[in-house]
Amino acid sequence: MAGIHLTLEAARGLSVSCLTANGCDDDNAQAVTEVMIKAERDGCTSHGIFRLPGYVKTLRCGRADGKAVPVVERISPAVVRVDGQNCLAPLALDRGRQPLIEAARETGIAALSLVRIFHMAALWPEVEAIAEDGLCALAVTSSRALVAPAGGTKAMFGTNPMAFGWPRRDGPPLVFDQAVSVMARGEVMIAARDGHALPEGVALDADGNPTTDAQAAVDGVLLPFGGYKGSSIGMMIELLAAGLIGETFAYETTANTADDGGAGRGGEVIIAIAPNRFGDGEGWLDHSEAFFAEMLKQDGVRLPGGRRHAERARIPKEGFHIPGSLHEKILALTNTE
Ligand code: NDP
Repeated sequence: MAGIHLTLEAARGLSVSCLTANGCDDDNAQAVTEVMIKAERDGCTSHGIFRLPGYVKTLRCGRADGKAVPVVERISPAVVRVDGQNCLAPLALDRGRQPLIEAARETGIAALSLVRIFHMAALWPEVEAIAEDGLCALAVTSSRALVAPAGGTKAMFGTNPMAFGWPRRDGPPLVFDQAVSVMARGEVMIAARDGHALPEGVALDADGNPTTDAQAAVDGVLLPFGGYKGSSIGMMIELLAAGLIGETFAYETTANTADDGGAGRGGEVIIAIAPNRFGDGEGWLDHSEAFFAEMLKQDGVRLPGGRRHAERARIPKEGFHIPGSLHEKILALTNTE
């Protein structure tokens, strides 16, 4: 395969150096790097090192503070709030995770509200980490307006991912993580960069016409999956990740934020549930394992996360490739002399 071959360790070094050169302290640089490295490790190219220039833009324009120290507060028995103080989201997530888990174990169900953060990452790492601790987790976030509501042609919702994690008896948790758009914006950007066409039904161009041209889709709007049903889920995520916690709706984020390829400020909500506090003791685990086994009796059915775990078994040994142009860009962004 063409491009630059990297090990995960080499990519980690590249990322930390680049973020540090662009104003991050060690805590922020390590936290942001870890989410990109996890994405590369699991073959999620659209949220791997490809995102580094966007993080750097968000720092260089002064929107995000690479030295921010998030403030964590338990504002009620079941609600933990993290004010990221304009950090890139990964450090706020790291700081809020343990207090959320403790609150959920005490109360049975608890929520983490994250405000004043800049998000560009996939959501599965956070629900996976919570589910590895034996809790179910649901995470939602909103970003810039990129998705038109069903029937409309103007972007109102972010691509608004929703991730869910469920602990398993053996092995890693079950996790799904999906954007509310038919295709994630990162995938559309990669298709535009590589000159690939999109499937039909993914996007409208800037004039509101259906398009399969990836660049026209980047300049236009994305469509929600499942028509009005996906549109309602996008709306719900806006209400949870913005309306509920006093953060900006995606259309407000867009209005407040320069279109410079960096992240816009947004919120995130994570709900954690202690399954053994819902009346079935520890029965939930065997019961849900039997449910998965029943699903998998059908040919053609797989559980979400299987593709990532196959990549996780391979990529740490084999490494991965990034385009030479991306590698050069990262080196140029690191060399700030
Ligand atoms: P995909 O459509 O690639 O996958 C969605 C989920 O479906 C995954 O959990 C995937 O598991 C699962 N899946 C795929 N195929 C099957 C199948 N045949 N059977 C069962 N499960 C299946 O993801 P998206 O393109 O929607 O999103 C990509 C990423 O982009 C997400 O991680 C999301 O968090 C991120 N994102 C982040 C945003 C932000 O603002 N921060 C905005 C939008 C998206 P598997 O991985 O195993 O294939």
